Amino acid sequence: MNSKIVDHSKIPDLEHRNFRNDDFWKEIPGWSSVTRGEFADHMWQLKNSVRKVAQIKKLLGDTVSKEFIADLESGLHTTPMNIRITPYVFSLIDWKDPLNCPLRKQFLPVGSQVIPDHPMHMADSLSEDDDSPVPMLTHRYPDKVLFLPLTICPVYCLYCTRSRVIGGSTESVEKETYGANQKYWDDVFEYLMNSPKVEDVVISGGDSFMLNAKQISYIGENLLKIPHIRRIRYATKGIAIFPQKILTDDAWVKALSDVHKFGRSLGKQVVVHTHFSSPREITKWTQMAMDRLFSEGIIVRNQAVLQDGVNNHVDEMVLLTRQVGYLNIQPYYVYMHDMVPGCEHFRTTLREGVELEKAVRGTTAGFNTPTFVCDLPGGGGKRHVASYEYYDEENGISVWTAPYVKPGKSFTYFDPIHKLSPEAQARWADIPTREAMIIEAVKKAGY
Ligand SMILES: *Cc1c(COP(=O)(O)O)cnc(C)c1O
Ligand code: SF4
Repeated sequence: MNSKIVDHSKIPDLEHRNFRNDDFWKEIPGWSSVTRGEFADHMWQLKNSVRKVAQIKKLLGDTVSKEFIADLESGLHTTPMNIRITPYVFSLIDWKDPLNCPLRKQFLPVGSQVIPDHPMHMADSLSEDDDSPVPMLTHRYPDKVLFLPLTICPVYCLYCTRSRVIGGSTESVEKETYGANQKYWDDVFEYLMNSPKVEDVVISGGDSFMLNAKQISYIGENLLKIPHIRRIRYATKGIAIFPQKILTDDAWVKALSDVHKFGRSLGKQVVVHTHFSSPREITKWTQMAMDRLFSEGIIVRNQAVLQDGVNNHVDEMVLLTRQVGYLNIQPYYVYMHDMVPGCEHFRTTLREGVELEKAVRGTTAGFNTPTFVCDLPGGGGKRHVASYEYYDEENGISVWTAPYVKPGKSFTYFDPIHKLSPEAQARWADIPTREAMIIEAVKKAGY
């Protein structure tokens, strides 16, 4: 990537206001006669979710090559994530060139793009399990917690940071996936009741779109009733990959809206955090869904994950930022990819993250500009990409601290090896040399 010199004149000024509104799903042979009304129905979307290669073959017929299908089948042997895609996303994939399509890359694994994991990768890269005082809860920061009430989602993202638990076992990973199991939630509420420092709860997972209306209310009301809790956020990729639910699942939207009103009556914030990664996910459907949430007064923020070939280009990132901003979604974070298994081909160097941050800042309102962060492996928490203590760019080793979260401790993050020079790659291949390089970098950082 060469974003060091960005020619902003090349970025079309008003492109971010054009939202696709054609019957794009009719290009999929299996859905050529599906009407707009059917496509808008959230039950139709769920029922027709794509989960098997046989289904993909049937839907696409001759429009997809045998080579691509074979590539997909080989990808399934190693991927940690099962296939699950809504018809909305499936039909937005560029089926004329699926290998290079940023949407296909996020949801359908192909064997030809898999590369070996980084030697320092970890299944629980962020040490969420170590910082867990009760099941389904991670309590790392003093005043905020992460609550995982379920581990299923309406789509499965190949880059998922929680691939160790989300979305059911695959050929390569055994998982203890759980649906919305209310039995354990009361223990979480009780723990929070007894944790007076906590003000902020992230309800993630898994995906809040898979909680039914009653569960949305149950969780929201129980959390808001705890006196010291001031802010809750429902996390869902749903707005990005399944806007039809916002448009036609009235019971769910009402439950969310009622929790929001209940929060407001107590002077507390209830917001939604979503997850758009590329402009290709955004259409007129997104705009209609956002208009509905906005009219309910619900604030939505976006968290994207930086992924090679998906959004690590300045034009894509600027367009995404402007587009979500235009839809009243506040860009909040762009994450460096976590060092989890099966994702090495997605990862970028820290330098790319730093350069993208520089290029995006200034293109739109400051409050609509995302902060680029690295969530430190080992549980140091999220840090601004340019706030490393030391960066050995040649060998792809950055050293970090987290003075408030883990005082006195240093953390390391590593660039993907395939993006380093051949000499550096050779150093990584030799274990003693690799270890010495890491120790040297930590020492240079003063640790
Ligand atoms: C990301 C995260 C939060 C929320 O952090 P914000 O920076 O406030 O978005 C809370 N707990 C854990 C464990 C997290 O990973
Ligand atoms: S929606 Fe979120 S939790 Fe679910 S697979 Fe995607 S990244 Fe993982």
